[in-house]
Amino acid sequence: MNKMTENSNIKYDILIVGAGFAGSVTSLILNNLGFKVCLIEKGKHPRFAIGESSTPVADLIIRNLATKYNLPWLYEFSRYGTWQKTHPEVVCGIKRGFSYYKQYPGKAFTTDEEHINELLVAASSDDVQSDTNWLRADFDAFLVDKVKEYGIDYFDQTEIVSAERNADWQFQVNQFNENIILNASFFIDATGSSKLLNQLMEIDSSSEEFLTNSFSIFSHFNQVPKWLEILQEENISTDDYPYNPDNSALHQILDEGWIWMLRFNDNRLSFGFVLDDTNEFYKNLPTEKIWNDLLDKYPSVKRIIKDCELSTVPGKIVRSERLQRKLKQSYGEGWVALPHTIGFVDPLFSSGIAHSLAGIEKIIDIISKDWENKTLLDLDLKEYQNAVFEELKITDNLVAGCYKTMPYFGLFNAWSMLYFAATIAHEQRRIKKEIPGYFLNADDKAIREMVQTSYADLLKIIENKQPTEDDIKSFAELIRERIKPYNIAGLLDPSSKNMYRHTVAKIE
Ligand SMILES: Cc1cc2nc3c(=O)[nH]c(=O)nc-3n(C[C@H](O)[C@H](O)[C@H](O)COP(=O)(O)OP(=O)(O)OC[C@H]3O[C@@H](n4cnc5c(N)ncnc54)[C@H](O)[C@@H]3O)c2cc1C
Repeated sequence: MNKMTENSNIKYDILIVGAGFAGSVTSLILNNLGFKVCLIEKGKHPRFAIGESSTPVADLIIRNLATKYNLPWLYEFSRYGTWQKTHPEVVCGIKRGFSYYKQYPGKAFTTDEEHINELLVAASSDDVQSDTNWLRADFDAFLVDKVKEYGIDYFDQTEIVSAERNADWQFQVNQFNENIILNASFFIDATGSSKLLNQLMEIDSSSEEFLTNSFSIFSHFNQVPKWLEILQEENISTDDYPYNPDNSALHQILDEGWIWMLRFNDNRLSFGFVLDDTNEFYKNLPTEKIWNDLLDKYPSVKRIIKDCELSTVPGKIVRSERLQRKLKQSYGEGWVALPHTIGFVDPLFSSGIAHSLAGIEKIIDIISKDWENKTLLDLDLKEYQNAVFEELKITDNLVAGCYKTMPYFGLFNAWSMLYFAATIAHEQRRIKKEIPGYFLNADDKAIREMVQTSYADLLKIIENKQPTEDDIKSFAELIRERIKPYNIAGLLDPSSKNMYRHTVAKIE
């Protein structure tokens, strides 16, 4: 704990509020660029945080930020192998790719030789080169220790009460029931929620524009049986799997939503349901009832989790509100918000960490370039807002299509390839060192149109009717044709039998 009183006369260049990984990384970079930075956190590290699975794009951005802004130790967190070599004490897990298993009501998991109910998409070639599941409590605490080590002013258990802007910001800040004044030229909201901006500037956030309507119930558990062992006990062949599914972002697809299972090295598992609530079915149901009813409905899911104990932290099942939210405004004179403050869609496809990092990359670039030029700063922040809004929109479209297809795994499989095509296109841009543009290539009109047109085509075959086998087959063919310009990985090639080894991003 750092007491603040003596700092009240200091004028900071930049005040960053919220010490999640995004706030800390932003502080460290701006400090290295020579700005006088202050970081404020209302809680205290280590603390529980959800949102743990990284992706190749996240790794690429971490490497870029670490190299460009002289944070060599950050680079090591971009791959499982180097993370383990340098910081094994910061708990993480191996994430070799994205795995999906379709669960049907009342039935134990079954599949066939064609892997009709499985989809495994590799994102790395081996464990050493693998992405990671971040135990956020550990990783975020590590970053805050780095913030302190670099001599950045950091105050926890501290909240902003009010803000006034004349030539600069004057913040009234509360720490241990004492009110202190902090001065800063610029303010970055890294709180991961719209609440602070609403409190300080009455900026609203809304769910109105989203197609997706989901919420989540989740926790961490200990000693959860391995999914691979359950498959083997059921004599389900895993011989041609590209990797061990327990070392991946493992998803169980239900009719009404999905489950994430992210494993850490210390045998802890992050487990959560994300449920479609378009019809407000769950609105008034108690969390425990939802949880137990779903376990009773899906026997293989029950087998995984029924005897597991909750981890001490958070020690309970947490229930979110509706996940979709978007701020009406995400920058202004002397301030900007990071992507997770601006909005969120859904954790399907684990885009949150990469999206936050992509936003940090843009904001740092803008601030370092335009600091002395208010007109340019305003123009570039406007473009940043446009980018984040478009990125949320394409993510929403992709995720909403997934929810529509969850009862029909063949359709889900085909639809999800639009996401993989968009992310591969974006990865390629970064690997070729082109200007990265928008996350998921949301600035590429052809990609946006491909997703929108495909969504309209999807609705035609599922609205008010069950799709037939022929509908599903023709839709898969349609998507295969549409993703052709981006499909360097053989996606939807029938000979792959839903096992994709060649989607691996070659990151040097
Ligand atoms: C259910 C769920 C599952 C997810 N799963 C994934 C996933 O698998 N992969 C992925 O990439 N992303 C996932 N995400 C998204 C991911 O959580 C976010 O992208 C990520 O947490 C953003 O990090 P952050 O540092 O911006 O915000 P946060 O981690 O939310 O950190 C914000 C910090 O600000 C502090 N704070 C808040 N208000 C104030 C205040 N007024 N004053 C001072 N401090 C304040 C908080 O205490 C916190 O420490 C998921 C999100 C949800 C909701």
